[in-house]
Amino acid sequence: MAYYASVIIDISHEKLDRTFQYKIPEELFSQIYPGVLVFVPFGIGNRILRGFVIEVTDYAEFDEQKLKEIDSIVEGGVVIESQLIALAHWMHRNYGATMNQALKTVIPVKQKIKAKEQRIVCLCMDENEAAGQLALYKKKHYVARARLLEELLIHPQLSYDIVTQKLNVTANVIRALEEQKIVKVIRQVDYRTPTGHLQKKSYSIELNELQRQAVDTALSNMHQGIHKTYLLHGVTGSGKTEVYMELIADVIKNGRQAIVLIPEIALTYQTVMRFYGRFGERVSIMNSRLSKGERYDQFLRAKNGEIDIMIGPRSALFTPFLNLGLIIIDEEHEGSYKSESLPRYHARETAIERARMADASVVLGSATPSVDSYYKAQKGEYQLIEMTQRATYQPLPACDVVDLREELKSGNRSILSRKLQDLIEDRLAKKQQIMLFLNRRGLSGFVSCRACGCVMKCPHCDVSLSLHKDGKLMCHYCGYEEKAPLVCPKCQSKYISGFKAGTQKIEEVVKQRFPMARTLRMDFDTTRSKDSYEKILSAFSSQEADILIGTQMIVKGHDFPKVTLVGILAADLSMYASDYRASERTFQLLTQAAGRAGRGSEAGEVVIQTYNPEHYSIQTAKTQDYGAFYQAEISVRKIMAYPPISNLMLVMFTAKQQKQADWAASYLAALIKKAQIAELKMIGPANALIGKMNDIYRKVIYIKHSEYHQLVRLKDRLELFLKDRKEFKEIHISFDFNPMNGF
Ligand code: ADP
Ligand code: ZN
Ligand code: ZN
Repeated sequence: MAYYASVIIDISHEKLDRTFQYKIPEELFSQIYPGVLVFVPFGIGNRILRGFVIEVTDYAEFDEQKLKEIDSIVEGGVVIESQLIALAHWMHRNYGATMNQALKTVIPVKQKIKAKEQRIVCLCMDENEAAGQLALYKKKHYVARARLLEELLIHPQLSYDIVTQKLNVTANVIRALEEQKIVKVIRQVDYRTPTGHLQKKSYSIELNELQRQAVDTALSNMHQGIHKTYLLHGVTGSGKTEVYMELIADVIKNGRQAIVLIPEIALTYQTVMRFYGRFGERVSIMNSRLSKGERYDQFLRAKNGEIDIMIGPRSALFTPFLNLGLIIIDEEHEGSYKSESLPRYHARETAIERARMADASVVLGSATPSVDSYYKAQKGEYQLIEMTQRATYQPLPACDVVDLREELKSGNRSILSRKLQDLIEDRLAKKQQIMLFLNRRGLSGFVSCRACGCVMKCPHCDVSLSLHKDGKLMCHYCGYEEKAPLVCPKCQSKYISGFKAGTQKIEEVVKQRFPMARTLRMDFDTTRSKDSYEKILSAFSSQEADILIGTQMIVKGHDFPKVTLVGILAADLSMYASDYRASERTFQLLTQAAGRAGRGSEAGEVVIQTYNPEHYSIQTAKTQDYGAFYQAEISVRKIMAYPPISNLMLVMFTAKQQKQADWAASYLAALIKKAQIAELKMIGPANALIGKMNDIYRKVIYIKHSEYHQLVRLKDRLELFLKDRKEFKEIHISFDFNPMNGF
C-alpha cells in the first residue's frame, strides 16, 4: 500500500489552504506523521524547501504518477509549530472539523507589528504623602480618585489602559491628579503588551496547611518527572489561586512555562493584578478585546521566550511555549471552555492532550467540579486534591431554603419572600452589602405550577418540555409533544405557566420595597457597552451601592468583603433547562452564588427561594455538599445513559427549507439504524431547541454510545457517505461531541 502526505511549505494562517501532496518513500513511512518537518522538492526547479506534514492518507488526490516524493526528514531541534500541528490533527480527529479549520484555530493570524506608544501612570509623591492624600479623598467621597491612588500605593506604575479599562478611572480624573502633581503620565515606545509596565512587589502570602499539601502533592510528582492531571476541588475562597501561583513559580524556576486558562468574565483587574504582583513582566494576558496585532505580538513574545506565563480564555491554550510545563484551568466546570464553532473542542480535553505531547502537568480547579471531571477523578484518571476550608478559615455561609409554594399559600405574591425581606432590611441597617441573583440561564420556556412546583417533563428523556408559541410543549431530544395544560395535572391549580420575571422587574420591586437602598443592576442589557461590566463591579466594590442585582454574571469569582447576604430569587430557573446538564448547572450556580457571601470579617448568609425545595440540587447546595450532589447526579446519568457514563454525539441538520432538513434527518437516521452498530442508541430526529433561526430550519439527532471512538467512527462513515452527494448539497450537517448546551 502506498501512503501520501499533505505538506504546507509556509506555515502561516493565510497560507494554510495551500497544501501539496507528496509520496512517502517506504523507508520513511514510520517516521512521517502530522507535525513532522520535512525537506521536499518544490516547483519546476525542484528546489529543496522545508515544509510541515499536515496529514497522511492512503489515497492520491491527483495523478499518482505526477506526485513527487518527500526528500528527507529535517533533523535537529523540535519547533513549536510541529507540536501545534500535531495538536490540531488530534482536534481534527477527535471533534470532527476539517484539518484546515483545526489548523486555523491553533496558528495565529500574522500581522505587521508596529511599535506603539505606551502610556504609563506613575505615582510621583512618596508613600506617606500619598497615604495622606488618599485619606482626604476618602473623606470627601472622591471614589475614583481614591481607587486609583490606592492601587498606585501597591503598584507605583500602572499602564494607562489598565487604569481606564480595568480600574474604570476616567481620563478626566487622571488629568486632574496630573495637574495636582500627584501622578505623572509618561510615554514610551514599546511592545504592545496589554498589561504594560508593572512593578513586581515582594510576595508575602504564606500558604496554609491545606494549600501546602495540595502544592506538595503535585510537586513531588512533577519533580520525579511524573506528569498527571489533577482535579483541585477547593471550596469557594479556599485559596486555589495561591496554589496555582506556587506551582507556576516552581515550573518557571525549572526553565519551563505555564498557561493559565480563566473564563473571560472572571479575568478581572483583581485577578490580573494578583499574577502581576507575583510574576511581574514575565506574565502576559490575552482577551478577546485585543486586536489581531496585539494577539500576534503575544504569540511572538511567547515564541521568543520573552514571557513565561500566559493567562487568558480558551484560546490561550495555543500559546506557542516550546517548553511547556504546566496548564491550569480555573473554574474548569465552566461552559465557555467548550468551543461553539468548528472545531468544537473542549479546552479541558485539548489541554490534557497538549500536556501529554509536551510532558507537562494539568491542574483543573473548581469549587464545583464538572460531573465529567469528578467521574474521571473517581476512576483514577485524574488525581483528586481537596481543600475543604476557606483560606483564612472563615466559615462557609449559612444557608436557608424558602419554599415559594408556602409563600403563595400565605398570600405573599412578591418575588421577595418574607425571610429575604427581613434580612435585606437588617443588612441595610448595618450598612452591609447584598447581592440578589436571578438564575436566568437556560430559560427555555419550561412550564411549572406555582402552587405545587410540578414541572412538565418529557416522559422519555427526563428533561423539561419547552413551550412553543402554538401552545404545544415539546421535547428537544426525542421530539415528543403534547398540548400545554390549562390546569396543573397534579394539583389542579390554575397557576401553571412559564416563569417571567427578569432582573429589571426585580430592581423595580426592590426599589419599591426599600426606597432608600442604592441599587446596581448587572445583566445582558446593562453590560452591552464596552467596559460596563468592570465599571459596575468596581462601583459595587467601592460601595457606591447597597444591593447588586444580576444574572449569573455576578457569581463569578469576585471578592466583595462587605457582602453578607446573598439572595437567590428563583433557583429553579436553570433546573429546567431542557438538557441533561440542568441539575449540574443549578448546583454550580447556587454554590458559586452562595460562595460570594461572608468573604470578609462578617459571617455570611444565603437565602435560596424555590418551588422545589426537595430537589437534590437545592438540598446539596444548601449544605454545600458536593459529594452528595455528585452521588445523586451520577446515578441519574447512569439510568439515562448520559455523559460521562456514556458519550453523546449531536448531529445537526440545517437547511433553508423545513422539508429538506426533515428529509435529511430521517434519511440519515434510517442509515444509522441500518448500520446496526452494537450498543448504539439513537434519539430523534427532533426539532432543535431553536427550531428555526434566521429563517434556517434546524433538526437534530442524538446518538449515545459508551465508547467515544465508536461515535467518531460513525461520524467518519457518515461524512464519507455524504461526500459529493448532490441530494445533500443544500443541507448543512455538523457534529458536536458531548455538547455543553441544549440545542
Ligand atoms: P478561590 O480561588 O479558591 O475562591 P482565592 O485564591 O481567590 O480563592 O482566595 C480567596 C482569598 O483568600 C483571597 O483574598 C486571597 O488573597 C486569600 N488567601 C488565599 N490564601 C491565603 C493564605 N494562605 N493566607 C491568607 N489569605 C489567603
Ligand atoms: Zn400543581
Ligand atoms: Zn424526550
